[in-house]
Amino acid sequence: MNPHSKTLYNRLALIGVGLIGSSIARAARAQGAVGSIVATARSPATRKRVAKLGLADQVVETNAAAVAGADLVILCIPVGACGAVAKEIGPHLAANATVSDVGSVKGAIVRDMGPHIPKGVHFVPAHPVAGTEYSGPDAGFAELFVNRWCILTPPGGVEQTAVDKLAAFWCLLGAQVECMDADHHDLVLAITSHLPHLIAYTIVGTADELQNVTRSEVLKFSAGGFRDFTRIAASDPTMWRDVFLANKDAVLEMLGRFNEDISLLTKAIRNGEGDKLFEHFARTRAIRQGIVDIGQDSASPDFGRPHPGLPHTALPKPYASDD
Ligand code: NAP
Repeated sequence: MNPHSKTLYNRLALIGVGLIGSSIARAARAQGAVGSIVATARSPATRKRVAKLGLADQVVETNAAAVAGADLVILCIPVGACGAVAKEIGPHLAANATVSDVGSVKGAIVRDMGPHIPKGVHFVPAHPVAGTEYSGPDAGFAELFVNRWCILTPPGGVEQTAVDKLAAFWCLLGAQVECMDADHHDLVLAITSHLPHLIAYTIVGTADELQNVTRSEVLKFSAGGFRDFTRIAASDPTMWRDVFLANKDAVLEMLGRFNEDISLLTKAIRNGEGDKLFEHFARTRAIRQGIVDIGQDSASPDFGRPHPGLPHTALPKPYASDD
């Protein structure tokens, strides 16, 4: 029945087709991971665009119609919207189907979606730690997940075969898979992703409000470090609002530690304590080297960052950021 020997699921339903949903569609199709893809999105404009791009075999108008007969359902929408959508699709899910998501926070997903997943349906939340600052169905590309981590946070009691099958799906899309507890995921991502985004949003806002440095100077001399923050601070406001609301406790914990450390550095600068500064910067440089060593970024300088108009196949791997 399935033309591809690698086919893991007969029918994949994607609810939400933005950067992540459209990348899953492209990658799943390129790898022959699913027999067919049915997609839906909230707005008629996005549904129309998805159909025009040919990202799915079928584009339907409602979430209920999308999940009917699907053996894999993935919600690719903001974290704050997942609970209501789970409630809506719950009665329409096929027996033995697997329901997953791609949300950047996992504790809230387990809490909000879990109660609406009926018995006989497998619930395996997931977070592909890969992204860019772009949004929408045009922004996705099949290689987004290659060599990136996808973290699965199955709640207790979920059938291991369902977890293994979803792990195999993500591996086929190029990702490396790790399982962990949802709360632990949220703590890890608070420091590796959420806090860096908050700092970027803050610093770009601070620069914007400076009175004695003109906007044109900020843009002109941005290669001095500011430019990298602006890329992160261009990330989708809805997605990140939801991340900070949903991962409040872990972010506040990391923010508290960050504020303590920045106070120490502030003091060292004020007191002219060069040794302290040097020691700190030498330690952080070693962390950067560690990330390069394990292949999560490239050592090459960040020149010629590709732009969305270029074909994605031309994009170098370090383009994917860890969101
Ligand atoms: P995106 O490009 O902005 O796409 C979001 C999709 O969700 C669109 O199809 C949008 O529909 C739909 N949507 C928005 N609000 C909705 C609502 N209230 N109810 C139902 N559908 C809604 O976003 P994305 O970057 O793909 O992010 C999707 C998810 O992936 C988020 O949970 C995010 O945390 C996670 N994630 C993102 C990244 C990243 O770097 N971007 C990385 C890893 C995980 P319309 O177009 O019709 O409005």
